Formats: sequence, structure tokens, C-alpha cells
Amino acid sequence: MKCKLCKNKGIYKNFCERHFIEYFEDKVKLAIKRFKLLKKSDKVAVAVSGGKDSMSVLTILNKLGYNVTAISIDEGIFGYRDKTLDNVKLFCKKNNIKLKVYSFKKEFGKPLDKMNIIGSKCSVCGVFRRDILNKYTKGYDVLATGHNMDDEAQAIIMNLLKNNLDILPRLGPISGVKTIKNFTKRVKPLYLCTEKEVSLYSKLKKVNPYSCCCPNKQYSFRLRILRLLDKLELTQPNIKLNIINWFLKYKKKIKEKGTIKICKLCGNPSSKTVCNKCILIKTI
Ligand code: SF4
Ligand code: ZN
Repeated sequence: MKCKLCKNKGIYKNFCERHFIEYFEDKVKLAIKRFKLLKKSDKVAVAVSGGKDSMSVLTILNKLGYNVTAISIDEGIFGYRDKTLDNVKLFCKKNNIKLKVYSFKKEFGKPLDKMNIIGSKCSVCGVFRRDILNKYTKGYDVLATGHNMDDEAQAIIMNLLKNNLDILPRLGPISGVKTIKNFTKRVKPLYLCTEKEVSLYSKLKKVNPYSCCCPNKQYSFRLRILRLLDKLELTQPNIKLNIINWFLKYKKKIKEKGTIKICKLCGNPSSKTVCNKCILIKTI
């Protein structure tokens, strides 16, 4: 297979290495333009875990000249997060990118691995991470995350199959609660890029040398959806893109259910009078 543009050795969809990188970066530019994700004057926080997706977003936004600050969270996952954080620190230093690291230990009194958690660590981790991001991105115009097309297609199908239709309006290239002031807009520049493409890009750019997964990662239902979509994609090419396109077409017609309140203890957006973080803090 040769590159359709220069006849060098092709590595993906008839693109050589150089032209694949251009193709990938053009897709990110297209998503930014099509969904109006970012303005050149924006102060952009990038949520960076050190994994392939967030490192790729940081790489591209920095390359495109956006005013980026990397925001990393040290949850306190021993033997894992320290390694990915070292990767982020090294990368930011090398590329002259501002980096801010916040920790569960400082914010909530204990690292995740020392918290008293009954059930899934991920659900507690997710609530606390969101809380830190809400709190520390208030001075930014936008928070960019590394969600890619596969993540989004999985989330859409999972919520459909669980009949969580009221959660669907919160998905999309610009996500989160938009009706609340003081809540930083969240954007997904990799919205049009598949998981495979992000993996290849991060490998070619060598941005993710420590690519091991979190030991707590709970796949369960999401993993089954992921495998199902990957299997379908083999015989029905573009199935993930079709899911995204269907969703974008009908998103406006699906109404968000329930009103968003403000937590009476911490002031963050919540569907209840006291948010999950404030409830969890009492149990850990
Ligand atoms: Fe946190 Fe779970 Fe993600 Fe690990 S896999 S970082 S515990 S949410
Ligand atoms: Zn709260």
C-alpha cells in the first residue's frame, strides 16, 4: 500500500506517516471549526491524564498555537498515576507548557487507594475528578478533554440501552451543564477521530511512552459495547460515525430532564440539593 499523496509507504488509509499526521490534525481542526469549540483568544485548560487521548489533544492544541495549560490530577493510584504524571511533567517541560497538578490527598484528605470505598473505585474517582476540574478551571474559557469518537459512540449506545435518555443531551462535542454560570464549557477536539487514529497519532508523535491502563479500570458494560461496536465496524464500516451523526442530528430534539441545582454545601452544579462529592466525602 502506497500513500495516495506522495507514493511513500502507506501506514493508514493510504496515507504515509507524514500525511497521516496531517490528515489527523486536519480532522481536529475541522471539529474545532464545525462545532465552534475554541476561539484563538481562549484561555484553554486541557485535562491531561498522561494517556494517549489527552496527550494527543495537548500536543495538537499546543501546536496550533492555543493558549493551553495542562491540568493533571493525582488521584493517588499507587504504581500507576506517578508514572503517567512523570510523563506529563516531562512533556510539558520539554514543550514549555504550563502544568498544574491537583491531588485527591490535598483536596479530600486521602489518596484514592487509601479511601474507604465500598464498590467501584471508578465511580468515586470520577466524582472527585470532576469536582477538581470544576473548581480549578473557573478562570479558563474552556476545558478540553481527550474524548474520541469511539468514547462518544459507546456513551450514546450505553445510555440508549439503559434508557438514560435524559443524559444524552449532556453528550456531544460541547458537553456538560450549559445552563449554569461559572461552569467552564467542556469541549472534545478529538470528536471526529477514532480510537485507532488517536493510538496511531500518539505512537507516531511518541507522546505516550507509559501506555499502561489504570489497575482499577472497570470496563464491564462499556467494554461489551466497545467490543460490539468494533465487531460491527468490521462489516459495517463507519458505524461509529453514523451513531455520532445520528446523535448530532437529533440532539436538539432531546430535552434535558430535571433542573440543575446548586449544591448547598459546596456550590457546584448538582441534580440534588447536596452533590455526590459532598455525600461521598463523609464516607471515605
Ligand atoms: Fe479513576 Fe477508574 Fe479512571 Fe482509574 S480507571 S483513573 S480509578 S476512573
Ligand atoms: Zn457539593
